[in-house]
Amino acid sequence: MVFSCADSRVCPSVTLGFQPGEAFTIRNIANMVPPYDKTKYAGMGSAIEYAVIHLKVESLVVIGHSKCGGIKGLMTFKYDGNNSTDFIEDWVKIGYPAREKVQAEHGSKDLDEQCSICEKEAVKVSVENLKTYPFVTEGLKNGTLKIIGAHYDFVNGKFEIVDVE
Ligand SMILES: [Zn+2]
Repeated sequence: MVFSCADSRVCPSVTLGFQPGEAFTIRNIANMVPPYDKTKYAGMGSAIEYAVIHLKVESLVVIGHSKCGGIKGLMTFKYDGNNSTDFIEDWVKIGYPAREKVQAEHGSKDLDEQCSICEKEAVKVSVENLKTYPFVTEGLKNGTLKIIGAHYDFVNGKFEIVDVE
């Protein structure tokens, strides 16, 4: 199962050469995986439940990418209680712990660099969020499931594994 950004430049089937039937794919703004929440995130929860329990996927792969507009939003939205968007700020806020970490550890770097780092940190947040789904932790415990974090830099043509431990 693959979680990827909706950005048209980073279609995982093109990047990784998936054939039909090979990868159950969820794409959204900034490839966020929200934590387990039956009311707020039923769309994501049902997809993960279906993939893990019924399709019995072997891997959950979260793929961030370079020049992600959603991540740039996460790094630059004010979050002062007055949202300027109906949905986007709330959605990418799933990655807020990544923003806080980048600002604390890399606050002196320019925005582009901070965004690049945040693209990978947000993958780690999503990986942690995956572990809040009981059927995921069950699969991890039984050894039937593994979680992989990755980052695709389409500018330099580089695909790398993000260390999620
Ligand atoms: Zn993106």
